[in-house]
Amino acid sequence: MSALPPWFDPAWQRLRTQRTQDRLPHALLIHGPEGIGERDFVRALAAAALCETPEDGDACGHCDGCVLFRAGNHPDYSEVRPEEEGKQLRIDQIRDLAGFVGLSRGRAPYKVVVLTPADRLNDNAANALLKTLEEPPPRTLLLLLTSRPGRLPATIRSRCQRVPLHAPTPDQARAWLAERLPAGADADVLLALAHGAPQAALALAGGDTLTRRAAFLDDFGSCLDGRLGVVAFAGKWCKEAQATLAAWLNDVLADAIRRASGAPSRLSEQSADGAGLRRLPEALDLQSMFKLLHELQQYRRLLETPVNPQMLLEGLAVSWKSALAAQAPRRNG
Ligand SMILES: [Zn+2]
Repeated sequence: MSALPPWFDPAWQRLRTQRTQDRLPHALLIHGPEGIGERDFVRALAAAALCETPEDGDACGHCDGCVLFRAGNHPDYSEVRPEEEGKQLRIDQIRDLAGFVGLSRGRAPYKVVVLTPADRLNDNAANALLKTLEEPPPRTLLLLLTSRPGRLPATIRSRCQRVPLHAPTPDQARAWLAERLPAGADADVLLALAHGAPQAALALAGGDTLTRRAAFLDDFGSCLDGRLGVVAFAGKWCKEAQATLAAWLNDVLADAIRRASGAPSRLSEQSADGAGLRRLPEALDLQSMFKLLHELQQYRRLLETPVNPQMLLEGLAVSWKSALAAQAPRRNG
């Protein structure tokens, strides 16, 4: 019996039925917001496909297939992900995948491959994958997981059955978190920072992410104020996961835009943004903030290519500083 959270019920029930009737399609594009438990969903589905004695379409949990899968060495299962977080999937990884799919299947009901995040395919890798999608051996199950299905080529999307996963309602997310959070943790603050994704919120509570976030935003604020030099700032933070830093800035900027438009802030006071960033709605007009938001999106795309993070961070800080300097009269007047 899978212990998936209730917000996966609609998607899960449909796949369970397909598993019970033994008619799972050869490729599924599973897509939805990050941090809602999507990896557990994919694991539960892989387990159900590999299980030798499924119960109502769920993995039984005790057959040889289930035991091997749990131990992480099922011979009919393979997982393909970028070698470095945030980077592209390489064409030889996709060729290896095709080789694995082409090998004869062992005793499992299906041969299962998980590709994640599936949007990290460059053109060559996507073409190589297309060949496998066009002529899959029988009883192959390719599971493509992504939060950005639109970035996959249409040729790939059209060959997969789509499985949309939906974020929980705020009540579902709070209830799920309440059972797992340590005492004293504030579920609402964590959920706001995690965009309503409960598993991401739980991860925030567990590590030192909140502390690092506050330190980064403080430093970025100091850099904008001129209390910390651009080079020193970038040198201090270039070793961090740049996509995470960009996501933090994106949240702060999006919240500043909301406040400037007269909407209430979604980030709690407790999320402690650097003082320099708190005054963004007063220091910049909406147009400049949207321009910075647009630049930040380009920045996030650049991060998927081989780049020098120190230089990128310096560029980002300079860009924000010039936006603020250009509007200095607005602050003084
Ligand atoms: Zn089993």
